[in-house]
Amino acid sequence: MRAIRARLARLYGVPQAPPHGRPLDELMLTVLSQSTNDGNRDLAFARLRERFGSWAAVRDAPLAEVEEAIRPGGISRMKSRRIQEILRSIGDPPDLGWLCRAPVDEARAYLLSLPGVGRKTAACVLLFACGARDVPVDTHVARVGGRLGLLSSGVPFERLHEQMLALTPPGAELELHLNLLRHGRRTCVARVPRCQECALARLCPSRRPAVSRRTRT
Ligand code: SF4
Repeated sequence: MRAIRARLARLYGVPQAPPHGRPLDELMLTVLSQSTNDGNRDLAFARLRERFGSWAAVRDAPLAEVEEAIRPGGISRMKSRRIQEILRSIGDPPDLGWLCRAPVDEARAYLLSLPGVGRKTAACVLLFACGARDVPVDTHVARVGGRLGLLSSGVPFERLHEQMLALTPPGAELELHLNLLRHGRRTCVARVPRCQECALARLCPSRRPAVSRRTRT
């Protein structure tokens, strides 16, 4: 992990993103991020905030209006339901600021008790909003980590999060999450990884051999 971290940092730098301190915003953003790209997620979030102004207003609005506001983010029916379910379950006015002051295990357990909130969503909230010790494992991180032999293949995401956390030095949570994600998007892509141009190839048990050129006879 030390060698992989160093090579990734040479490739992509060491990302700096101080925690923004707004766990409820991060939770809503993560719900909106499902099955879409960052641009559409951000557009849906901005429309939601612009139209309703507060999370209490989103909670109390007709479902169809919330659905309409977040339509650019895709699967808006499901997401609008989920957003209102969460907002109804966290008290009045909706506020999760206390999560960043709570012990991380307690904060994580609370997030996991909310409707539809899974391990990755909880990790995103804890890391990006609170700077707490957690590492989101999405499909990119799971794929790259699996190919590099850091993470097990075919095990539930819950266990992958435990493995990733155990491997991650304290303070490197954001760096490893973002740099493995970048590597998964740019080089270690899903269908045919670009092993011949991969800076981690010498460390990787899954690297694909170069395809030899066939000579014509
Ligand atoms: S060598 Fe190939 S499989 Fe291994 S990390 Fe690089 S791109 Fe992925």
